[in-house]
Amino acid sequence: MDPGLYIVATPIGNLGDFSPRAAQTLRDADLVLAEDTRVTGKLLAQAGSKATMRRYDDHSTDRQRDDIVARLGSDVVALVSDAGTPLISDPGYKLVRAARDAGHDVRTMPGPCAAIAGLSVAGLPTDRFLFMGFLPAKAKARSDAIAEVATLRATLVFYESGSRLADSLRALEAGLGPRDAAVAREITKLHEECVTGTLGELAGRYADSVARGEIVIIVGPPPEAAAASDETIDRMLGDALQTLSPSRAAADVAERLNLPRKRVYARALDLSRA
Ligand code: SAM
Repeated sequence: MDPGLYIVATPIGNLGDFSPRAAQTLRDADLVLAEDTRVTGKLLAQAGSKATMRRYDDHSTDRQRDDIVARLGSDVVALVSDAGTPLISDPGYKLVRAARDAGHDVRTMPGPCAAIAGLSVAGLPTDRFLFMGFLPAKAKARSDAIAEVATLRATLVFYESGSRLADSLRALEAGLGPRDAAVAREITKLHEECVTGTLGELAGRYADSVARGEIVIIVGPPPEAAAASDETIDRMLGDALQTLSPSRAAADVAERLNLPRKRVYARALDLSRA
């Protein structure tokens, strides 16, 4: 293999998902960078790799990063995380940036990623999605993070742990309303399941029974723009036009109804001319 930095995805629960290319990369690597060398040690043994391992995460010092980058011109260096795709709620972006800045090759050995796996079974729109990672643990920061994306017309994807699932579902329902959602748990493992329902239904289901294991929460986008009738738009515009210009009234109503501003503006102009 050519020297450089290789980003290697690893299984999220089922070793059968470890790709032949990923395994070959770990065998060919001169150095494997790992979050937890015990976890990665098992994977290296399974792949038949005798590569040297070193612990690496985004708290590693600039000096440690410089040492790694200095090897990239001559060595094959692989970055793995404990499970899934490195850099996705896992360490690596600082190293990739440093490697690129120094002009080295950065290649990916793509594979499992819980966010994408969750999206693929949830049955929610996937044309536009926003990966949100882990919500903050504290209630205020969590509701602020949810409010920030409440009007986005996109499916939202969150990582979560079993112990915090019920709190997060309640906070999501409070901030986003009765949207369709899914809880994908233990993907590719023995007790894999994907439970769907509205956020309220899911919050109720997990209120008393603690869900174990690793979890992805997927929340569908806000209801279709078309759901707001012309009468509703006109009524709200009528009120807004009492105090605002057509363009400001349109912006205000479009945001509240989650509608394209252009459509509401055309209506506001008609009403203000009438
Ligand atoms: N880099 C990983 C990836 O590509 O998915 C994610 C690492 S992040 C530190 C770990 C979180 O991913 C878990 O807390 C959970 O939310 C999610 N996760 C990982 N494996 C999972 C699985 N098998 N089923 C459901 N969620 C999983």
